[in-house]
Amino acid sequence: MAQHADELRSPAVAPAAIAWPEGYQAAGCLTFDLDAEAAVLTVDINSMHRMTPMTHQSYGPLVGVPRILSILANHGVRGTFFTPGYTAHRYPDVVRSIVEAGHEIAHHSYFHESTIGMSEQTEGEMIDLGLKALWDVAGVRPVGYRAPMWEMNWHTPRLLADRGFIYDSSLMDSDHPYVLAVPGSTNGTTLVEVPVWWGLDDWEQYAFLPDLIGTGVIESPAKALEMWTLELEAMHKLGAAFNLCCHPFMSGRPARAEVLDRLLDRMKSLGGTWITTVGEVASHVVSLGLTPREVVPPVLPEAAHWIATPDQPAS
Ligand SMILES: [Zn+2]
Repeated sequence: MAQHADELRSPAVAPAAIAWPEGYQAAGCLTFDLDAEAAVLTVDINSMHRMTPMTHQSYGPLVGVPRILSILANHGVRGTFFTPGYTAHRYPDVVRSIVEAGHEIAHHSYFHESTIGMSEQTEGEMIDLGLKALWDVAGVRPVGYRAPMWEMNWHTPRLLADRGFIYDSSLMDSDHPYVLAVPGSTNGTTLVEVPVWWGLDDWEQYAFLPDLIGTGVIESPAKALEMWTLELEAMHKLGAAFNLCCHPFMSGRPARAEVLDRLLDRMKSLGGTWITTVGEVASHVVSLGLTPREVVPPVLPEAAHWIATPDQPAS
C-alpha cells in the first residue's frame, strides 16, 4: 500500500518556556568537558606517540581546571564537569578536587569515543565503564550525561533512562529545557534534556592542533566573549537556559579564562539569572511535571525512489 503523507509528519512540538524557581527568570550554566588526551586519541590513536599534542591536552586537567575552579570559587558559583572515565583514571586527583570544591561531575563517555553507528550493546558497555570509573575514582554516581561530540544515537536515551540518569545535555532542538519521552525504557520513562548547540561551545572558537583538531583558526577571546554575551542576553530575555560548553585545555588558557570571569560578571548583572549546575536545572524541570516530548527519526518518502538508501543501524 502506498505510503500516506501523514506517515512523514513529525510528532514533535516546539518546547515551551518553563517556570523557574521563585525569583529567577532564566538559567545560566557553565559546563566543562574534561576531554583531555582522549579527545585527540580518538581522532588518531597514534597521536599517543606525539609528546607535544599530548601536553596540549594535559594542560586542561593540570593547569586549566585549577584556574577555572578558582574563577568559579571567586564568583561563588558551581559548574558542571562532564568527565570521560579515562580522564578520571588518568587524573584522579584533579577529578577529586572538582568534587571537593562542590561542583557537579557528569558522565561524558569512557574514552570520548565516536558513537556514530555504535551498537546499543557497545554503547551501553561504554556508559557502564564510564560510570564505574567515576565511582571508583571519585565516589560519584552521575545523574547527567553528555555524548562525546554531542552525538546521540536514537537508542542512547533508553540506555541512560535504564541506568537511572536524570538528564542528558546533547540535543539541539530547543532553547528551553524539556522532558524527553524515552520509549522502551525499563526503568525511568523520561529524561530531562538541557539543550546545547555549537555556537555555545569553545571548540569552534579555539580548537587548533595541526592534523588533529580544529579549523585552523584561533579566534580572539574578545570575539568569543562578544558572541556568548549576546547569546546570554538574548536567552535571558527569553527565559531560557544558557548552557555554555568549555574545555579546560582550551578555555583554561589565561586570556580565555578571563572571558569566563567577565561572562560571570555579566550573568550576575542580568537580574534573575539562576547561575547553577545542569543537574540543578534538571531536578527543577523534573519537579514541574511537564508533558514529555516525542523526538523521533525521520521517515523517508517511499515515492522519492531516487533518494539514497541509508545503511542499517548497528545492533
Ligand atoms: Zn567532549
